[in-house]
Amino acid sequence: MDDHDKLPPDLAWQHDGHVTEFVLSSVADGEAGIVPADALSHLDGCDHCAQRLGAEALLSAHAGELLAELTEPSFAPVKVLVKEPAAAVAKAPASVRGLATLPKRAVFGALLLAALGALPAILDQIARVPSLVGTIGRAVLMLARSAEVVSKSDMFPTLAFAASAVLMISGLVVSRISRPGSSNDLAQEGGV
Ligand SMILES: [Zn+2]
Repeated sequence: MDDHDKLPPDLAWQHDGHVTEFVLSSVADGEAGIVPADALSHLDGCDHCAQRLGAEALLSAHAGELLAELTEPSFAPVKVLVKEPAAAVAKAPASVRGLATLPKRAVFGALLLAALGALPAILDQIARVPSLVGTIGRAVLMLARSAEVVSKSDMFPTLAFAASAVLMISGLVVSRISRPGSSNDLAQEGGV
């Protein structure tokens, strides 16, 4: 029953009579329990395998350190980042200053590219402004006239409605500005 938990002989022994890497790594990782007893006793008595085990243990320990660093990602990169700029500051402050401004430049570059990408749309909007202003102006004028009538009749709640209607009509103008001749529709809708 115990033999089923151990490494089988063909995995434990190499053809040259020494133990395999499986045995070495198992012992190095603290899992000597799966190593057959005769392989363990060979490790005790064989200088060659003892050396190999030492190397394997070093490797295993180093791998453990690497794993520990990987599981602390916030800690390990900081060590590296702190070391290098500190050395660079002592040697070449100017280049460090250049490096410090680099992210900013990258950000501005990205913003510039974004602005350039949006430029056609912005120019399009600017080109529409005269007709937009004209249409909104007409709508406001119209509403101002009706508001005048409303205020004379002391219907202030209706005036408040007219004020919100201005906002609504402005929204309509903006949404309909792409349709030619929409200002006529708007005048009919807005007329009180
Ligand atoms: Zn050996």
